Amino acid sequence: MAKIPVGVLGATGMVGQQYLALLADHPWFEVQYVAASPRSAGKHYNDVMAGRWQLPQPYAPAVGDLVVEDANDLSRAIAAVKAGRLGFVFSALEMGKDAIHALEDAYAGAGIPVISNASANRWTGDVPILIAEVNPHHTDIIPLQQKARGWDKGFIVVKPNCSIQSYMIPVYALIKAGYEVKRLFVTTLQAVSGAGYPGVPSLDIIDNVVPYIGGEEEKSELEPLKVLGSIVGGIIQNAAEPKISAHCNRVPVVNGHTACVSLEFGVKKPTIEEIKQIWTSFSGLPQELALPLAPKQPIILRDEANRPQPRKDRDTDKAMSVTLGRIRPCKLFDIRFVGLSHNTIRGAAGGGILNAELLKAKGYLGS
Ligand code: NAP
Repeated sequence: MAKIPVGVLGATGMVGQQYLALLADHPWFEVQYVAASPRSAGKHYNDVMAGRWQLPQPYAPAVGDLVVEDANDLSRAIAAVKAGRLGFVFSALEMGKDAIHALEDAYAGAGIPVISNASANRWTGDVPILIAEVNPHHTDIIPLQQKARGWDKGFIVVKPNCSIQSYMIPVYALIKAGYEVKRLFVTTLQAVSGAGYPGVPSLDIIDNVVPYIGGEEEKSELEPLKVLGSIVGGIIQNAAEPKISAHCNRVPVVNGHTACVSLEFGVKKPTIEEIKQIWTSFSGLPQELALPLAPKQPIILRDEANRPQPRKDRDTDKAMSVTLGRIRPCKLFDIRFVGLSHNTIRGAAGGGILNAELLKAKGYLGS
């Protein structure tokens, strides 16, 4: 099978680098187009990234020879499509919401599907916020989105904020098993890589905790409701529950967002043993899809009293599994637990690639 040529917009940033590392030997996709700001454009990727590459894993050697394009110059992307070097783009841009919104619309309007990590389009009614294991059926809105916008091949899908995966997958597993989740209280401990590069100044975060991340609590409280929502009249209507209250903190960890969560159920309440059984048996995606980056087990349970921990658990199963521990009764709600996921992989580039794999398996990409 010929690989689909893909582009990474924002290829020089924290998330863009993760895309290039994860796609270095991907069986379905091959990076043939990289774009960033006008500051990086016109130079070879190797030259732009000299001294800037942050990851232990390398990018594919051929990527180093690509000339970085200006992501704002759509004519270059259209030329790459015509030359057979670009089938769709991953968007990992950081340049202001309105500008990203307009640019992602322009790419999709030009027939280039956009799989985005940015928050700009998360509240566009006909754009799904996808977590592959939770709401794969939301891809059904793509033909409606294309029809409403008059787009032919292009479309936009986004993934949610990096802080919510560690609890949305387990919460969804409980809902799927028939338990209503009425209220969710969460305190997040978020890694510095979540702020991009160079991110939080070292003097602000070493020996410290910052109890504020701009916009993060609003995203954590609202995005889950769209993920759990339904397609009605060509848009995604939010679920009414759970009611969520979030405290989001920046902590001196490089990678891996931790979440301390309490849940209140409806009338029917699962026991702790039932919850553990639901989580360990949750498979999410049908095995026959065989998506290359899908974790074998999306939810891993640790029994030790002091797990999960970012350094020990963030890389489990290609850093795509969510690790849970400390599952116990809650004195205010019903149960509480601690969740952990790798923010720039499961919560960003890995989640974006898994969404692309799902879209390819469903026939939305590459034909
Ligand atoms: P970052 O490290 O700051 O990288 C930003 C990227 O955007 C760079 O490639 C940069 O290119 C490019 N850029 C900046 N200004 C631009 C402009 N005017 N025109 C075109 N390109 C421009 O940010 P990041 O952490 O990778 O985040 C990227 C996106 O993913 C953001 O929307 C963020 O909210 C989202 N996200 C991040 C995480 C995470 O854990 N970090 C998780 C989920 C979602 P230059 O190098 O040329 O400046």
